[in-house]
Amino acid sequence: MNKLKDNFGRQINYVRFAVTDRCNLRCQYCMPAHGIDLAPRQELLTFKEMYRIIRVLTELGVKKVRLTGGEPFVRKDFVGFLEMLSDNDLLDVINITTNGALISPHIASIEKLEKVKNINLSIDSLQRDKFTKITRRDVFPEVYNTLELLEKSSLHLKLNVVVQAGVNTDEILDFVRLTKDKNVAVRFIEEMPFNGKGQRKMTENWTFKKILNEIKSEFKVSEVNSEPSSTSRNYKIEKHTGTIGIIPAFTRTICSDCNRIRVTSKGTFKNCLFDDGVFNLRDFIRNGASNEALKNLFLSLVKRKPENGFVAEANRTKGNVTESMSTIGG
Ligand code: SAM
Ligand code: SF4
Repeated sequence: MNKLKDNFGRQINYVRFAVTDRCNLRCQYCMPAHGIDLAPRQELLTFKEMYRIIRVLTELGVKKVRLTGGEPFVRKDFVGFLEMLSDNDLLDVINITTNGALISPHIASIEKLEKVKNINLSIDSLQRDKFTKITRRDVFPEVYNTLELLEKSSLHLKLNVVVQAGVNTDEILDFVRLTKDKNVAVRFIEEMPFNGKGQRKMTENWTFKKILNEIKSEFKVSEVNSEPSSTSRNYKIEKHTGTIGIIPAFTRTICSDCNRIRVTSKGTFKNCLFDDGVFNLRDFIRNGASNEALKNLFLSLVKRKPENGFVAEANRTKGNVTESMSTIGG
């Protein structure tokens, strides 16, 4: 039975977990060129602590976990952690978000894990030079190779494309063309100010609507039904194998159906991407909290889930949104 319900009647059944704040890339929209201030290792949750938090959440009705970061595959023995999590009989689905540069040797082992269903691969350009400029690392061949391997694998592949004004907006249609023959769900994400510095100066504001209009300039799209809690609005194009979606991450029109909570790599509990962290789970556990105490804590924390991302942002006490997405877990 799902016991995690917030004050707006939203049932929480999905947790996004950042397994590390470390990353092998330096995407412009996520962090500065020199990287972010990394937490000392002992401040990161151990896999055992993560397993325990997730287990308690599943006892309260959470069914799905997304593992993200930082780059999950940078963390030593991440695949071992996937195996460990698979043993949780109350968990139905494990999804992963990755930049794909390190995962090709692990695809075969991941395919064997029944609960790992979806891989979200982040790729913001199909041009090597531009990809290098965006990520500040020359790893496009590896990432594209991962894309091709995953497309052929038994895993369901989604591509995350952060739409960056004047940088990759000229490639939106190329990404849509990719869905003609490839069985992928391409999802365009509105850029948010989570880059370690704050709001970037933008020449144009690429909102959900503008992205959709750009796609419609060449393709006839029809909307497909999505689960209410889906982060994207999804579309199909006739005779295309794959689908497309747009995630209104910044304009935040999806909050009323939100079913998610987040835990950062340092064990901070978040009710919303835009809040500034509501509870330090790591210290609570390390000070000896029982599973019963953890359960009661979660039940009370979700009651504080704000109605939407704008309220969460307004309630922040640590100032404007500037933290890097790699510390929050995107
Ligand atoms: N390193 C992995 C990756 O890039 O897929 C996982 C972590 S990353 C923080 C998760 C997702 O957040 C990626 O798809 C990334 O493109 C997205 N992201 C990061 N910073 C963002 C920002 N400022 N606005 C919108 N999306 C962002
Ligand atoms: Fe790393 Fe992902 Fe952030 Fe890029 S978006 S710097 S790959 S954590």
